[in-house]
Amino acid sequence: MADYDYDLFVLGAGSGGVRAARVAAVAGAKVAVAEEHRVGGTCVIRGCVPKKFMVYASEYSKHFDTARGYGWEIGDTRFDWPTFLMAKDKEIARLSGIYVRNLQNAGAELFHGKAVLKDRHTVGIEGERTVTAKKILIATGGRPWMPKELEGVEHAITSNEAFHLAELPKRIVIAGGGYIALEFAGIFKGLGVDTTVVHRGPNVLRGFDDDIRAHIAEEMEQAGIRILLGCQHTKLEKTATGIVNHFDTGHSCESDVVMFATGREPYTEGLGLEAAGVELAANGAVKVDEFSRSNVDNIWAVGDVTDRINLTPVAIREGESFARTEFHGTPMTFDHEMVASAVFTQPQIGSVGLSEADARHRYGKVDIYLSKFRPMKETFYGGQQRALIKLVVECGTERILGCHVVAPDAGEIIQMAAIALKMGVTKPQWDSTCAVHPTLAEELVTMREKYAPPALGQVA
Ligand code: NDP
Repeated sequence: MADYDYDLFVLGAGSGGVRAARVAAVAGAKVAVAEEHRVGGTCVIRGCVPKKFMVYASEYSKHFDTARGYGWEIGDTRFDWPTFLMAKDKEIARLSGIYVRNLQNAGAELFHGKAVLKDRHTVGIEGERTVTAKKILIATGGRPWMPKELEGVEHAITSNEAFHLAELPKRIVIAGGGYIALEFAGIFKGLGVDTTVVHRGPNVLRGFDDDIRAHIAEEMEQAGIRILLGCQHTKLEKTATGIVNHFDTGHSCESDVVMFATGREPYTEGLGLEAAGVELAANGAVKVDEFSRSNVDNIWAVGDVTDRINLTPVAIREGESFARTEFHGTPMTFDHEMVASAVFTQPQIGSVGLSEADARHRYGKVDIYLSKFRPMKETFYGGQQRALIKLVVECGTERILGCHVVAPDAGEIIQMAAIALKMGVTKPQWDSTCAVHPTLAEELVTMREKYAPPALGQVA
């Protein structure tokens, strides 16, 4: 049998790679990890974590208004972007340090540099040496994608740069209608930036339940965010005063910053995957089986680089399953069904299971329970934000197929609902749960009337 330098070599120290490396190392495997940027990956360095800090920072503008309605006297408020950036960067550095220590404590070796495969067992690390490994894991994640052919696109930024803007713009245009576009729209609006979202489709958040999509768009517009639907950039033009956004509708508008949040692509380019014979999908993702194994039997891939469900906890579970299967002798796959997610818009979206349209497509007849209301915290002071709660239930079995929430803390609510849905909860079981009062979430277990959408011409 050939002798290798390592039992496992991991490309990428993000959520999936680090989890796999640690679990394998704990089992006694000799593990190395290479990271070309900072340890922590997209989630910790330029994604979920700094984004959530920005969401927290931006929510204060609404909190101040609410506080006034509750009797607090609050004078002028002012947000200082550099102070926030400094605090955010300090916390990200601390978290990245924890990732490094966790890897080291587990006994994994860390290389700072880009790793490129030379063949199916050989890895060259830039600025370092070339090593061999029995097993290789690709966990390089994804990168923002922009339409490169768009004239003037070089003037636009992506979410990567949005975390480090030298100063807060007065006006921003955000292209895209997905998670990142909407989350950043809420952030910038909350921080006082004049914010416009430009989306090519008829409504934002394709793939989510239609009622959720319509509701979040209404709530964002109500909060003062301009949303241009059925509209796409044709050109970006730099001027002395900003960037002029030209649209296919014939309109144009000027902004200080243009951000493209038009999707992400798997990071597989330039990693030597061809040399190792690894097969890729048309969009560049590594093709894998349910055990995250590629077509090359000693090479696996987990996380966004496989473009299955591009969420941090999914990458972690895929990485963990791989390492337990290969190094602990306990074969495991991760079940990609009923994965809940939250969109940190303001208000948040929490969603698990099927949308109404997908449920009808898959199961035929379904019952809908839906409630749209102003939570008591809002009504007290005349706030206009409304919550929406929706359940999609299979007729006959009464199984709850989907649960969708738009509300403050919807992310927290949906985590709990996801447990029940994953266990196959039925509507009668769900309803037998006593409400927690007075909460917004109690509405979830008190919806008894089936929802019928208003007939055409009737006001909702
Ligand atoms: P998404 O895939 O969610 O959204 C991309 C958006 O860009 C869509 O609205 C899409 O429109 C639009 N788009 C695509 N191509 C073009 C084009 N050529 N011109 C104009 N518009 C275009 O990607 P994101 O970048 O927002 O996020 C990537 C992934 O990261 C998410 O899908 C999610 O898995 C993950 N993520 C999760 C978060 C969370 O859990 N809270 C937060 C952030 C990211 P259309 O719908 O018409 O295709």
